[in-house]
Amino acid sequence: MANKSSPFIPADASPTDTIDFGDEVIPTNEKVKRVREVFDSVATSYDVMNDVMSLGIHRLWKARLISLISPHPSQHLVDIAGGTGDIAGRFLKKGGGSAVVADINTEMMAAGQHRSDLSSLVSLDWVHANAECLPFDDSTAEIAVIAFGLRNVTNRPAALREAYRILKPGGRFFCLEFSHIRAKPLAKAYDLWSSLLPGFGQVIAQDSASYHYLVESIRRFPNQEALAALFADAGFARIKYINLSHGIAAIHCGWKLD
Ligand code: SAM
Repeated sequence: MANKSSPFIPADASPTDTIDFGDEVIPTNEKVKRVREVFDSVATSYDVMNDVMSLGIHRLWKARLISLISPHPSQHLVDIAGGTGDIAGRFLKKGGGSAVVADINTEMMAAGQHRSDLSSLVSLDWVHANAECLPFDDSTAEIAVIAFGLRNVTNRPAALREAYRILKPGGRFFCLEFSHIRAKPLAKAYDLWSSLLPGFGQVIAQDSASYHYLVESIRRFPNQEALAALFADAGFARIKYINLSHGIAAIHCGWKLD
């Protein structure tokens, strides 16, 4: 499957560029390293923390994503920024043909490889790769997914173009990501909940800084329409999104038509 090395250098970045890392502004070419440090730090507690922080609701969001994909044995799925393999595993367990997790963080993938529910899945591969430069041939996947990963990527347009490149004509790309709530009272309650997350991170993962980054990066991520526009810029057609839990998260889907 892999056809080239995947350097961790953000495309189009010069050492003088800056970019947000949560609320911090850092040199663009440091973001990959900083993101990798975040996920190194949380890798072993990542799956537990997901349940705690979302009160288990991330499972419903992921189940919705898998039902939209509608897995079939003829499909190959690339789980971009796949971390511990949660999406790829769900896809295979629901009847998908084969899947590969591509992630910049070997600690996250190692945690996934130790998951008892994934170890028996023979059609699951793991590749150390940057979403901006995927080591896969053009037009080789029926489905590409990025779940809670795009927010962390330095050059999001480059990652979207890569997802487009690796899809076969007729293939679909899905992005599950935190998004923006429109209803003001709910947004306020959610803000309050978010402010508690670094405290949970400290108790469960002995790491509040990573969860400060999580909350800040969610607030800065493009809203539903802006992300749909990025999909269009990358070449996707028939772009749609659905809000989950009133917009706390959203699933965007786009097709590669030819
Ligand atoms: N997709 C998984 C899930 O839904 O449980 C993991 C999501 S986790 C919040 C984000 C993942 O994105 C981490 O495993 C991190 O290493 C990965 N990541 C961040 N930037 C990346 C990049 N540029 N290329 C590939 N993976 C990246």
